[in-house]
Amino acid sequence: MNTSKTKDSYKIAVVPGDGIGKEVMKVTLEVLDALDIDFEYVYGDAGDECLEKNGTALPGETLDMIRDADACLFGAAGETAADVIVKIRQEMKMFANLRPVKSYPNTNSLFENIDFMIVRENTEGMYIADEEKYTDNGAVARRIITKEAEKRIIDYAFNYAKENGKSKVTAVHKANVLKKTDGLFKEIFYEVAESYPDIATEDFYVDATAMYLITQPESFEVIVTTNLFGDILSDEGAGLVGGLGLIPSANIGRDGALFEPVHGSAPDIAGKGIANPIAMMLSAVMMLRYLSENEAADRLDAAILKVLSDAEVLTGDLGGSATTQELADEVKKYL
Ligand code: ATP
Repeated sequence: MNTSKTKDSYKIAVVPGDGIGKEVMKVTLEVLDALDIDFEYVYGDAGDECLEKNGTALPGETLDMIRDADACLFGAAGETAADVIVKIRQEMKMFANLRPVKSYPNTNSLFENIDFMIVRENTEGMYIADEEKYTDNGAVARRIITKEAEKRIIDYAFNYAKENGKSKVTAVHKANVLKKTDGLFKEIFYEVAESYPDIATEDFYVDATAMYLITQPESFEVIVTTNLFGDILSDEGAGLVGGLGLIPSANIGRDGALFEPVHGSAPDIAGKGIANPIAMMLSAVMMLRYLSENEAADRLDAAILKVLSDAEVLTGDLGGSATTQELADEVKKYL
């Protein structure tokens, strides 16, 4: 994801947040420490507990800390999740949301051979708060597509494909109905594609894509799309590979990046030590790749795959009875 030279040490902003966020973060840091990379962790508060304690769900110091770090690992926030994450994304101008959709063995995945990345534009489209208003007889939302933001995300997707050995990028839109906004998106997609002659291209309507994700999910490698469509397709992708405990995500900007599991604080199981830490660990794998620590990323990914393949030490959500700590210890064994 990032071509910059590997550094000798990294400052990582660690924001465990609420509920199981704290539990999965603790063991993920243990696993990262077993990789022998020089990480300096700085800890920040955010989320529901932080709001109760400090009167704000996202203190300025936490934002500054994230801004100052090489990357941020985020656990989970409860009721305040939207405020916290949306604010961090906005403040840090994190324009790309990455959601890998990958099938692992012994999970609830509906298919065996899925491995693609959804690259979602994160700053415009239908999700601009100020562009949604009540009117005299209802409400209206404006959909914003700018050349600059769409070119930036499409270029990111092609570059991601190039750096990660992917051979095709699929643009997803609804240009037959949204002729101007998505017409422009599609036009920019093919313009940017000219700079990546080795990467194949295709484009589909979003409704067709929703179906293809079920009928031929193994055909996708990298999907790039606008904000709302990306939001919906990402969750469809999560459903394909089964289970919130397994799905990581990344938010990337020019000046910072944040890696977090897709699941929330899971109050129903918080404090019991039984949460599945794999989504958090796979978020750490994404962070390692962002930092160009690819060898360490491969090692951690392979160790997780080994634990899932053996299926001897699994947490309750995957049909096992292991604790969060036991699963993490098993991953460490294979590093
Ligand atoms: P929040 O309000 O923080 O979003 P939530 O419970 O509404 O919390 P999630 O935290 O995403 O939403 O959890 C949804 C369901 O999935 C819960 O039953 C939870 O226990 C389960 N779940 C989520 N993450 C994990 C995990 N890492 N391990 C095991 N179960 C999980």
